[in-house]
Amino acid sequence: MIIPTKITISEAEWEIMRVVWAHQTVTSREVIDTLDNKMNWKQSTIKTLIGRLVEKKALKKEKYGRKFLYSANISENETVRSFSEDILGRVCQKDNGRVIQQLVEKSVLSQEDIEQLIIQLQDKLINAPVEVPCECAPGQCDCHVA
Ligand SMILES: [Zn+2]
Repeated sequence: MIIPTKITISEAEWEIMRVVWAHQTVTSREVIDTLDNKMNWKQSTIKTLIGRLVEKKALKKEKYGRKFLYSANISENETVRSFSEDILGRVCQKDNGRVIQQLVEKSVLSQEDIEQLIIQLQDKLINAPVEVPCECAPGQCDCHVA
């Protein structure tokens, strides 16, 4: 597995990756069959997306008999992590708390999920600063406006 930090995966490509992550190895036929109902994409669209993911090295392509097998080069966990870090990196650091609150509000969470979050937040609280510093370039957020 390679670290996916430099690999950007589009929304459409993500649909393909989910199929591969769920199956370990797949043929393009299996991806097409899996996404047939959900996405209503043409076969050629799916093949193009798979080709792009191979080019980006997100997928590994191997010849197996007369067909090609695809497997993931990047783990789902790491890719999701890098994606959520990317979201937080797109707003002022001072607003990270608000973004997380919105995510919590929108999420369907189990009792156990919530207990884990409470434990995590209580740990964070011990060393949390009173105020989060802004690390934006002046002019990219409201922090520097007097
Ligand atoms: Zn800022």
